[in-house]
Amino acid sequence: MNAPLRDIPPVHRLTTDPAVSAYEGLLGRANVRVAVQAVLDRAREGAAKGAEIPPFERLRGEVLERLADDRRADLISVVNGTGVLLHTNFGRAPLAANALANAVQLGGGYTNLEFDLAEGKRGSRYDRVSLQLCELSGAQGALVVNNCAAAVLLVLDTFARDRDVVVSRGQLIEIGGGFRLPDVLRRSGARLVEVGTTNKTYARDFREAWSERTAMFMRSHPSNYRIEGFTAEVDAKTLAALAKELDVIAFEDLGSGAFVDLEQFGIAHEPTVAEEIATGMDLVAVSGDKLLGGPQCGIICGNTEHIETLKRNPLVRALRVDKLTLAALSGTLALYLEPSRLLEIPLFAMLHAGVAELRERAGRICAALADAGSGGAIRIAPCETVATTGGGTLPLASIPSAGISISSSDRSADEIAASLRSASPPVIGRTEDTAVRIDLRSVLPGQDAELIEVLRSLTIETKPQGGR
Ligand SMILES: *Cc1c(COP(=O)(O)O)cnc(C)c1O
Repeated sequence: MNAPLRDIPPVHRLTTDPAVSAYEGLLGRANVRVAVQAVLDRAREGAAKGAEIPPFERLRGEVLERLADDRRADLISVVNGTGVLLHTNFGRAPLAANALANAVQLGGGYTNLEFDLAEGKRGSRYDRVSLQLCELSGAQGALVVNNCAAAVLLVLDTFARDRDVVVSRGQLIEIGGGFRLPDVLRRSGARLVEVGTTNKTYARDFREAWSERTAMFMRSHPSNYRIEGFTAEVDAKTLAALAKELDVIAFEDLGSGAFVDLEQFGIAHEPTVAEEIATGMDLVAVSGDKLLGGPQCGIICGNTEHIETLKRNPLVRALRVDKLTLAALSGTLALYLEPSRLLEIPLFAMLHAGVAELRERAGRICAALADAGSGGAIRIAPCETVATTGGGTLPLASIPSAGISISSSDRSADEIAASLRSASPPVIGRTEDTAVRIDLRSVLPGQDAELIEVLRSLTIETKPQGGR
């Protein structure tokens, strides 16, 4: 016999449930109502086909599950406990307060984005940020596009369409997310001429490959791997000089592109944009959200003539950046121009943090959980970790770090990791054998309190008695 439909609870009984209504602040009242209605509709359809009407608690559980799914589908903040500072999956570089303030202030109103205030006519959106980039790199000109992949595409399309681009076999890279240099070259209509071998390429290889069809000698930074041992590459200075002699363009896809010497943060020297420009390279392309620590964008620095030619390519219109990106980039670069403020860039603050300081944070977090942990099946303890820069930068850099290790006598590391991911905010750690490790170098210090709350609810949830 069919269950009477009146046994289905009214919508308001669920929307006024405290756990359900807590989602109103996160998802909006209308979305919570939609979720409740969908669960009740399903129960009604089931009942019409003769199924039992689930008890209230089960319906409530279904609603909460649905709301949690909705929440995860949103773009939300997460705690990055992986120790990978520039994680592409987590949006690479966190922005400096100065960059955000600039974006908030300029984004909320009208600006002189493309307006020349002195002349009262149309201006260029790239002028101001170019001045900062030129000052920092020593280049004559600069252009900003959507990302470094776009920068490479634009350079190749502008100068090498239907012509030859000579690249060392040791530098035909693939970066994450489907960016393969040979494919980008083909897409741009350029012809790839590979020279040398995987491990050794000499200047004479470039000279021999040169012909009337050659547009460019290109170098590409092997961002995410290293060839070690019996190797030779043509350095930027040698290649730039040879390009000048043979009247072709020398272009470097520097990728991660540091704008300051990273040795001050205890990691290996990475060629800076200024150093590359000083070698005589005509054009250098880098990412804005890797070692620069700014918003996603691609920066091309180079001599005036080539930058002006690039700006005339109609593709620039399709690859252009918006005012928010320019505001955030400009706010980031302003900190470089005032070196005492460099540590305001979150990436550098994270690199700069001492291991002792991170151990202390780990100690404080564990101490805050001492009461919650007692008697539970979860073990939380400080541990040593190794952080990396990530995002396809500095593949060999291993940065001593510290964090907390979470393990349990009755749950696997994968189960713990899944619980942490479903927390609010989600916490993503690294799973190692039987424990999940949270590296505190990549956890923004302002997130420690939230992390403590997530870990507290995890220990309560896992307590042998009285738990769920
Ligand atoms: C990361 C990288 C790119 C791609 O940069 P995006 O800004 O992510 O498009 C291109 N070239 C090199 C050498 C890189 O390291």
